[in-house]
Amino acid sequence: MHKHPSALGVATALKPAAPVTLIRPQAAARAARFFAEKFPGRSLYAVKANPSPDLLVTLWESGITHYDVASIAEVRLVARTLPDAKLCFMHPVKAEEAIFEAYHSHGVRTFSLDTIDELEKIMRATNDATDLELCVRLRVSSEHSELSLASKFGAELGETRDLLMATRQAADALGICFHVGSQAMSPVAYTNAIERVRAAIVDAAVTVDIIDVGGGFPSLYPGMEPPELEHYFTAIHRGFESLPVSYSSELWCEPGRALSAEYSSVVVRVERRRGKELYITDGAYGALFDAAHLGWRFPVALLREEDSAADLEGFSFYGPTCDDMDHMVGPFMLPDDVKVGDYIEIGMLGAYGAAMRTGFNGFTSDAVIEVEDEPMASLYAEPVPARRLATVIKLG
Ligand SMILES: *Cc1c(COP(=O)(O)O)cnc(C)c1O
Repeated sequence: MHKHPSALGVATALKPAAPVTLIRPQAAARAARFFAEKFPGRSLYAVKANPSPDLLVTLWESGITHYDVASIAEVRLVARTLPDAKLCFMHPVKAEEAIFEAYHSHGVRTFSLDTIDELEKIMRATNDATDLELCVRLRVSSEHSELSLASKFGAELGETRDLLMATRQAADALGICFHVGSQAMSPVAYTNAIERVRAAIVDAAVTVDIIDVGGGFPSLYPGMEPPELEHYFTAIHRGFESLPVSYSSELWCEPGRALSAEYSSVVVRVERRRGKELYITDGAYGALFDAAHLGWRFPVALLREEDSAADLEGFSFYGPTCDDMDHMVGPFMLPDDVKVGDYIEIGMLGAYGAAMRTGFNGFTSDAVIEVEDEPMASLYAEPVPARRLATVIKLG
């Protein structure tokens, strides 16, 4: 692994023609310690947000012992990288072969489901195992989140009673889980979802061993500055404590974004300028999927030895492929004298950015460099470095 003191150093010393992913293990470690110490229960890392083995090791070393995996490839990856980690297979619709291999070859005992069909599949694949932890996924609202997860998975109110009773019969430990959607901008999302859990427990009259409030914990992006994470933890703790099963059950959460967003950023070069449009070396098929498809604005900084004195202006980006859809509308705020050959750091791409890079059109890059400077924004830095904070406020 190459190391450099800073993003600026990478741009000026290496002048990379292809995008470079910068990683900041110290930022991911800080996020992991925050969850391990402050969440009032157990935190599972949702591997899909960023499956980089280096990140997995960093999180493990900082206190994250449980991993939420969703595919057999993720099961194998984490089992290989962290042999002592506990894996929880939390995709409600799995291939029977995947369940079989997870149970028999990798020691996975925790599975989620949202239908009787899936319960039967799990029982078949594990030969009616008696040591299963089975989590029934409830459908809850995504109304407080920037990214909905409400349509695809989750048992409806009318279905939960039979499903919870049948799963209780089959499971050694019964869990209830949900996901409020990603980048949840208010703790109320969790309070409301826990009310759904209460209604389901009362209706089915079952004892429950695990309450898993899922992911959705936000990170910090321009225009999306959430309340402090402690407020989320307080709301969840309060909701959990008020459930009739709290005295005998464990509380879990599954953060993906919140543990990985600050871990990486990308350094790109400007290849062309057309008015307020910049043609850069990474895009929708690289680490900027969410900027292209969701219109998310990420923090940006011009990487020049001498800071530009020009006013900030809003720019949009084109990625490197020949496709019109490779377009990030922004606005990304940069000094108005930005020009061809300049380097730009695009921040907060550790979650669902670096992980989604494709090789489309031949534009890809596996260059990764570890840097020691602070991420462009942080929910965990104490105190937030002044230059970085100023950047975020100006951009927001
Ligand atoms: C994607 C996902 C997560 C992580 O969500 P974030 O919004 O990144 O925290 C957690 N649990 C499940 C089941 C998921 O599908």
